[in-house]
Amino acid sequence: MSRVILHDETFEPYITEAETAAAISRIAQEVAQRYKGRTPLFLGVLNGAYFFASELLKRLDIPCEITFVKVASYHGTTSTGVVTQLIGLSQPVEGRDIVVLEDIVDTGNTIEHIVSALRPQHPASIAIAALLLKPEAYKKDIPIDHVALRIPNAFVVGSGLDHDGLGRNLPGIYRIVN
Ligand code: 5GP
Repeated sequence: MSRVILHDETFEPYITEAETAAAISRIAQEVAQRYKGRTPLFLGVLNGAYFFASELLKRLDIPCEITFVKVASYHGTTSTGVVTQLIGLSQPVEGRDIVVLEDIVDTGNTIEHIVSALRPQHPASIAIAALLLKPEAYKKDIPIDHVALRIPNAFVVGSGLDHDGLGRNLPGIYRIVN
């Protein structure tokens, strides 16, 4: 692994592909244990979670389903100004065990919006699995049930995560060089 330049920023190798794979294998075991005898419905949050979703699911030996959603934010006319919508959820979630798959949880705003959009549809349960969590930034009460890797507050790319569209294809995780 060597440094890469994406647009005008430099990124250095941070977590190797092998370490990333080992961390995903570890939580795959946790998830398989938790949903033994059930058939969870995984909700991958696009675009970033495509890599995590694929790597996690191929390590699961339980019956499961997957679908993908997007979170769209736009400036509306509410008091807060920004309206967040969950789009692309074509499958009924009522009575299902839902596992939301996120590439990275930072402040937790995105996860909070997703959970509030799902709850009124009465799933049997909602759990969150994230490839990366920034514990210093995360301020919400919603538990992040399965975390592959915890990192400090730095901007990272690779393994599905981008910098303005670039870097999702990088194996492992790269950290910005300030
Ligand atoms: P939150 O809503 O938890 O603050 O942020 C979640 C979203 O912010 C992620 O899905 C991702 O799109 C973006 N994000 C937060 N931190 C990073 C980071 O270090 N690198 C990249 N590429 N995206 C990030």
